[in-house]
Amino acid sequence: MTPPLHLLLARTLTLDPAQPEVGAVLVGGGRILAAGSAEELGALAPRAQRHDHRDLLLTPGLADAHIHLVGYGFSLSQVGLHGARSVTEVQARVAQRAMNTPHGTWIRGGGFLMSELGLTEYPSAALLDEVSPHHPVLLYSRDLHLAWANSLALRLAGISDATPDPAGGKIVRPLGTLLESATDLVVGAIPAPSEAQYLAAAKAGADDLAARGYVSAHTMAYEAPEAPRALQTLASRAELPLRVWASLPHERLHLARELGLGLGVAPQGPGGLFQWGGVKFFADGALGSRTAWLHAPGFADGSGTGIALDSPELIRELGAQAIALGLTPVTHAIGDRANTEVLDAYDHLREAAAARGIRLRIEHAQHLRPADVPRFAGLTASVQPMHLQGDGAMIRQLLPHLEAETYAFRALRDAGAVLAFGSDAPVTPPDYRANFAAAVSRVDDEGGRVAPHEALTELDVLHAHTRGPALAAGWEDEGIIRPGARAAFTLWDRLGGNARALVL
Ligand SMILES: [Zn+2]
Repeated sequence: MTPPLHLLLARTLTLDPAQPEVGAVLVGGGRILAAGSAEELGALAPRAQRHDHRDLLLTPGLADAHIHLVGYGFSLSQVGLHGARSVTEVQARVAQRAMNTPHGTWIRGGGFLMSELGLTEYPSAALLDEVSPHHPVLLYSRDLHLAWANSLALRLAGISDATPDPAGGKIVRPLGTLLESATDLVVGAIPAPSEAQYLAAAKAGADDLAARGYVSAHTMAYEAPEAPRALQTLASRAELPLRVWASLPHERLHLARELGLGLGVAPQGPGGLFQWGGVKFFADGALGSRTAWLHAPGFADGSGTGIALDSPELIRELGAQAIALGLTPVTHAIGDRANTEVLDAYDHLREAAAARGIRLRIEHAQHLRPADVPRFAGLTASVQPMHLQGDGAMIRQLLPHLEAETYAFRALRDAGAVLAFGSDAPVTPPDYRANFAAAVSRVDDEGGRVAPHEALTELDVLHAHTRGPALAAGWEDEGIIRPGARAAFTLWDRLGGNARALVL
């Protein structure tokens, strides 16, 4: 029996240099069979089911190359405080949730900024007690460096006026706000999610992404082991609407070895949508917390040169083991020093990686020395243009000497790096529109322009959201419209506009 054939009629950007634009695509058995003109393909398969989208634009399917998919799923069921402009607004949203939640159940939320709420002093527990006396409440600020809790949450965490500040954190008095590691005291009191809750969050995250027009995602480590397990379970039940490439933290590399996870190939059939692909390292912290690892002179406010996390020696040693298992080394590097060190470590891995067909990759690659840009040739630069919107002011203030090589997408691409765009959700919502806007205009939230000479075209952005991630994952059959490729598309009213996924 032959599978049913589908004939898609639409203005189609293929990203295949041999045939960049066509008017029709023929699909069967989940694969692209042919791309060409409507007449040509119509004659080839006269009985194919026709999908007439001639008012729309068809492209390879969108990918998010850096997301915490299950954490994002959890965030969707929490109280969203993005855009809240006053304490009253926060109270109203928490009160609303409390009304629909059984007493004693934790209410969690996030996304506010003190400055946006008009707060000049840290908020107190009493403000939340007014609207939620019977539910423990924990709300994170958008930058995750501060949490706001009510009295019940503090009591369950055993925090009183007499509790001393933990190392690396501060319990603000009067009680209510917790800074840095002090937030862990409250998080530790929240019951761990059940397996069913992990599954529900995995499904919610994946479904949300698919509804936005995405067909695949690279989910990063930095989640509990239950998170990727839930995605695997969904895949095995054929309930995963996306193709997922997952990386595990290097601390669990020995498990991959023991369990034979490092297959390095995408399994076929039902469940074939989930693949272990990478091993994650962290070379440094982040800009806002002054923990990005920098060359001298460091941060312009005199706060030093940041911190190193996983050492270059460790990345080199465990990176080699990852490659031997067919897994891609994936390293978070934000500061210019972190990037130099990772590139140095990668120099020792390039040959082995090339022999296995593995593309070494760096996550964020935000601030670079000019001399390091050409060293990205052949590597994946997994970057999130939308973050430059919020970072612009901070870059001008903290790293004026690096501004020209900040978010250096054009230079990286010209150097021969594969650009792969993502969101880092739940840090930022997975909205490809923001990546289009930021990468093309370079305009930040304050109206400034960050290194405008690094602007890309919309077609560049499309590539970095489709074919780029596919190449990063080693998926030759993804992110391109040509015979043999996966039949996973995105349909647009215009490039960068409204999108929906079409997977056949
Ligand atoms: Zn991340």
